[in-house]
Amino acid sequence: MRLENWWERTLLEKKPKFCALLQEDISCSFLVLGGGVAGLHAALSLVEAGKEIVLLEKSICGGSSSGRSSGFLTPDSELEVYQMLRRYGISGAKKVWSIPVQGVEIIRSTAEKYKISCDLEKQDSFFVGIRKQGEEAVRKEAKAHLDLGLPYTSYSQESIGQALGTSSYTAGLRTTDTFAINMMLYCYGLKQVLLKKGVRIFENSEVLSLDSTTAHTKKGKVTGKSIIVCIDKMKEKVSPLARKSYHAQTFLAMSTVLSDEQVHKLFPDGKCMVWDSQLIYSYFRLTKDNRLLVGGGSVLTTYDPWYFESSIIIEKVIRDLKKNFPFLEHLTFEYYWPGQIDITKDIMPIVDYDPEDKNKIFVLGNPGLPWAAFSGGYAAALALGKKDVWKNYLGMDRKFFIPDEVQFFLGKIPSFAINNVYSKYYQVDER
Ligand SMILES: Cc1cc2nc3c(=O)[nH]c(=O)nc-3n(C[C@H](O)[C@H](O)[C@H](O)COP(=O)(O)OP(=O)(O)OC[C@H]3O[C@@H](n4cnc5c(N)ncnc54)[C@H](O)[C@@H]3O)c2cc1C
Repeated sequence: MRLENWWERTLLEKKPKFCALLQEDISCSFLVLGGGVAGLHAALSLVEAGKEIVLLEKSICGGSSSGRSSGFLTPDSELEVYQMLRRYGISGAKKVWSIPVQGVEIIRSTAEKYKISCDLEKQDSFFVGIRKQGEEAVRKEAKAHLDLGLPYTSYSQESIGQALGTSSYTAGLRTTDTFAINMMLYCYGLKQVLLKKGVRIFENSEVLSLDSTTAHTKKGKVTGKSIIVCIDKMKEKVSPLARKSYHAQTFLAMSTVLSDEQVHKLFPDGKCMVWDSQLIYSYFRLTKDNRLLVGGGSVLTTYDPWYFESSIIIEKVIRDLKKNFPFLEHLTFEYYWPGQIDITKDIMPIVDYDPEDKNKIFVLGNPGLPWAAFSGGYAAALALGKKDVWKNYLGMDRKFFIPDEVQFFLGKIPSFAINNVYSKYYQVDER
């Protein structure tokens, strides 16, 4: 397997044009930092409102989490319905669940409206249980769907073979209205839309420091009346708010093209995007041209940068998958690549004003693509002076199990690890 992001390959096949780096000092009304899904959607909302925008991106638009992602476009993410129900109660969970649901629709409708060629394809979402514990997790998730009035189909170990070519899973929950997407191509397409609408985009232009009105790069600076920060793995030099997010590691691999027979055996009832019930879950889906995309991580390596370029973890994920689907035993995986998902301590993103400086808005720790699309649009709304209606859920002064003062003594990695597990399994928010 070669260490290369397969999505980049699909972009290069299109002979893409990249934007020049910033080499001058300029000013604008709205400055967006970061060209992932969040930053691009912030810029789209602003330009659709007739505003003048500059966007600075460290590498290429979509070059970080967004363009490395597996492209499961589903409201499900690190935040399951069961978790939301426990944390927020029925009415709160309904409200919060509407965020990623809107996010899916924002991306789908944007791709459709601007005819962005990004392999968008309807695929159901499939949450599967591993062992007895997993069966219980699926049962709880199904009950939470029922309580919130969300449609689903459930499968037992006996019936799961109707939808997946295995009987290794102990239960399954399937939902519709979800999509598979090539997010690298989506980001590239959205960048073209923004350029056509007059947004000035500078790629290869890392922001090295940020003061109240100005972002400084190596060769130039941009002064903005209002600044929206949508960058990942933020350094303290850019803002001390970097303490509010950290990243969890996952790995992906892409196979050669499956035969029609293998595709039918794998998904006898149509293509699905599948993930399992483990704390650090494994996942797989087919691309539009029927390659198998597989991903996963491990508890030990989630926060450990030492493994970043190693293939050890993804090889184990592939071995486990082949045990569940023996007819894929000889399938070759050609590419693998790592990715780091930014998350906050309680897994909900932060979209809020800088407490020190109200003309800066920070978008931190989006736990999924739909969340990022929504957060970008919401940050733009705040920059345009709209009310901060999501403050209770997305505000940065919400209560965390491990507050910043304790994190200071405990260290960042232990604080995030403990708080992430607490939020996933135990947290109940004030209502
Ligand atoms: C391997 C992997 C698989 C995933 N799979 C899925 C999935 O299937 N479904 C799903 O919903 N979610 C998935 N996610 C999560 C999803 O990708 C993220 O939630 C989403 O992309 C976050 O978007 P963003 O715009 O907030 O961040 P990013 O896409 O990371 O964008 C941030 C941008 O800021 C830029 N930047 C960073 N520092 C600077 C700086 N100093 N100056 C200028 N620019 C800077 C970066 O280069 C980057 O382009 C996955 C993530 C990973 C890593």
